[in-house]
Parts: sequence; structure tokens; C-alpha cells
Amino acid sequence: MVVTHHHSCTLCEATCGITVTTDGDRVVDIRGDEHDPISRGYICPKATALADLHHDPDLFICIGANPLVSNGSLMTAPNMRRRLKMLRGRGGRVVVIDPRRRLPGRLYTKDRKIHLAPGEYLGDLDRLRGRMEAWAPGELVLIGRRQLRSSNSWLHNSARLVKGKPRCTLLVNPADAERYGLADGEPAVLSSAAGQVEVPVEVTDEMMPGVISLPHGWGHGRPGVWLGVASKHAGVSINDVTDEQFVDELTGTAALSGQRVTVRAVGPPPSEAAWPAASS
Ligand code: SF4
Repeated sequence: MVVTHHHSCTLCEATCGITVTTDGDRVVDIRGDEHDPISRGYICPKATALADLHHDPDLFICIGANPLVSNGSLMTAPNMRRRLKMLRGRGGRVVVIDPRRRLPGRLYTKDRKIHLAPGEYLGDLDRLRGRMEAWAPGELVLIGRRQLRSSNSWLHNSARLVKGKPRCTLLVNPADAERYGLADGEPAVLSSAAGQVEVPVEVTDEMMPGVISLPHGWGHGRPGVWLGVASKHAGVSINDVTDEQFVDELTGTAALSGQRVTVRAVGPPPSEAAWPAASS
């Protein structure tokens, strides 16, 4: 029997509203819940992965910082006994992860250094270089960023936390700003295969050439948003230029950072031949 459930995404603190359509034990559809008073139908690409978690034959129970049933929590938190019975029926395992038992021992390394560059990452660099070399002239790498006074979209409806100069800005290296005719504080058009937004530029040498950054969690100016303060500091949503089909090949997960984009000053788009060659 096909049933629609109204729930919250459990993957991060934003707890976006979702509608989950199930057919028996199968999740057949997950989408944003338009009736959720906060998220009002918007979800990030991660939410659709909840179906994969639900269908995983093993159940992971994470104890510690987030004492939730992390796998299958859509159905199981209120219905643990039934879920465990189903899992046993299909030969699944219950894996209890308790980080408290592993810490601080897991943090210690033989050489007493923190290993920031595991072999798997280093071995993937050639593929990444090749990927960037295949990009068209004028294409840049878009990364997100976290901000001290923000937690996803949560804190943007607090006047004390959003006051001051606009923080939803596109960080651009000075060399790229010059290359693409962008000026500090002026709007730019940021485009990808997924969509396009207009956002003010902040020129800074904190970014390396070829990489630009837009913070995560903004974009409160849509029709129907009921957040009075946030709507006045709306910014734009990085999700509007995020290609949900873009996958990180090394880990096999959705890659929300490292998207391929172009940027130009507001005005008529230049012809491709007008793009200056990127510096190496
Ligand atoms: S932002 Fe994404 S991961 Fe977080 S709750 Fe919303 S849909 Fe889930």
C-alpha cells in the first residue's frame, strides 16, 4: 500500500520537513514538505539519501553526540521493535557505534601527528587535476563556507546575529576579480548547469585564484518565506547553483562543494572568446 508520511530530515540540525512516500517497506519518493513552516518545501540533495539509508540491510545505531538511530530513522525511531524484527527477517545486522568507547584512543597516532592527507586522498589528486584541465575557459571551482554567526539557515531570523554588513557574499581572489571584471561590493552573476544567482562580490586574497566561495544556508527571499528578519537579509541559496547529480568519485557521495561554475559582472554575458586565459 502506498502511504505518504510527513517527517523531518534527520541528517543535520536544520531538520527540514520532508514527505516520504512508502510502498510497504520500500521508500519510493522523498521530497521537501511544502507545509513545513520553516523549510517550506526546500531540502538539500542529501535528504534524498535517506532512502538509501533506510534500504541498507544493516541498522546503525549511533550513541554519543547524536543519540538517534542514524540509519532508517525515518521509520524506526518511533517504531524500533517492528524495525528490528524486519531487519532480522532480511538478515541485516544491528551495528552499535559508540564513539565514547573509542575516544580518545582513536585520536592517537604512532608518530603523534594528525594525518590530514591519507593515501586515498593523495592517490586521487591526479584524477582531480585531470578533471580541472578538462574544464572550459572561464570555469571556476565553487566551494561553500561556514560562518561564525550562522548554523545552516537557523540563525538568520535573529536580528542580533544578522546585523552588520551583508555576509552572503561571493569571495573572489583579486586576480580573478580583475580577470572577470568584478568589483568589491558590486553584484555578479554566478552560474552553473543547475541554475544562476546574483550575489555581491567580496574581493579577498583569502581565496586562491580559480576558486570562489558562497556561504551555505542563505536564500530567504522566496515567496512564502515567513521569516521577517531573515527575509530582510535574504542572500541567495548555494543550492540554486548546486548540481545534485555531481558525485565525488572517491567516496561515492553527493559532492556539494567543488562545483563547476562561471561568474561575470551583472550585464550582458560576454562571448566565450572574451574569457581571458586562467593563470596556471
Ligand atoms: S539541510 Fe539538507 S541535510 Fe540538513 S535537514 Fe535539510 S535536507 Fe536534511
